[in-house]
Amino acid sequence: MIRICRRGSLTVEAALTLPVFMTGLLTLVSSLYMCLLSQKIQASLLLASERMAVAASDGGSADIGDAKAFLAEGLSEADVRFIYNGIDGMDLSGSEICHNEYINLKLFCSLVPFSDAFGIIKIPLERRCLTHIWCGYDRGYFGDGEYVYITEDSKVYHCDRNCRHLMITVRETSPGEIATVRNESGARYRPCEHCHPKLSDEHLYITPQGDRYHNQITCSGLKRSVRRVRKSEAEGRRPCSRCGR
Ligand SMILES: [Zn+2]
Ligand SMILES: [Zn+2]
Repeated sequence: MIRICRRGSLTVEAALTLPVFMTGLLTLVSSLYMCLLSQKIQASLLLASERMAVAASDGGSADIGDAKAFLAEGLSEADVRFIYNGIDGMDLSGSEICHNEYINLKLFCSLVPFSDAFGIIKIPLERRCLTHIWCGYDRGYFGDGEYVYITEDSKVYHCDRNCRHLMITVRETSPGEIATVRNESGARYRPCEHCHPKLSDEHLYITPQGDRYHNQITCSGLKRSVRRVRKSEAEGRRPCSRCGR
C-alpha cells in the first residue's frame, strides 16, 4: 500500500514539473531567437541602406519606397513569420533622404515570440541606420594610396586621367580608303565584330589606336571605359609611354 502511494506522488510531481520545465526552456530558446532575429533585421536594414546609397550615387535616384523590398530580401520566410504582420508590419515611414547626402532609415516593427501560444506578447523593435550616399573611394582608402587608370583592351596603365592615350579619337573614312589606311601601329583595319560593317556602307569609322572599322559611330567597339584602380591591381601592365612611371 505504501509503495503505491509513493509511486502516485512521483507521477503527480512529474506531471507538474515537466510542463513548467518545458515552458521555461521554450521561453529561453524563444528569447535567444528574438535576439538573433533583431540582429538579422539590423543587418538587413544596413544592406538596404547600402544598396540605396549606391543607387543614389552618380546622379541616380533612390526611393525610400524601395527600402522595404531591399529589407525583405535580407530576411528569410521563417524570420518574417515572427514579425507581427510580416513584411507589412515593418514601418519605414520615418525614413528620409537628407539633403541628397544621407539615407536615414528608421524601422519600427514588433516581434512575436513563438513561446507565446496565445499571440498576446509583442516585443517592439526600433532600428536605425544612417548611410552616406556612395561617393567613391576616399583617397588613400587602400593604404598604398597610389592609383592608376586602365582600359580593358590595353596592356598599359596611365597615371594621368587626361592622358592623350586615354582619349579616343574617332575618324571617318570611306570604304574606298579602308584597304589603304593603317592605324598607329601600322596595322590594317578589319571589320568590327559588333556592328558588322560592309564595304557597301556609306560611312566607316576608325580610331588611330584601334584595328577595327565600324559602320556605326555609336558602336560599343568605339567606346572606351576607363577604370581607376590601385597600382597593385595593374600588375602585368607596362607604364604608358606618355604619362606612366
Ligand atoms: Zn598615358
Ligand atoms: Zn563596331
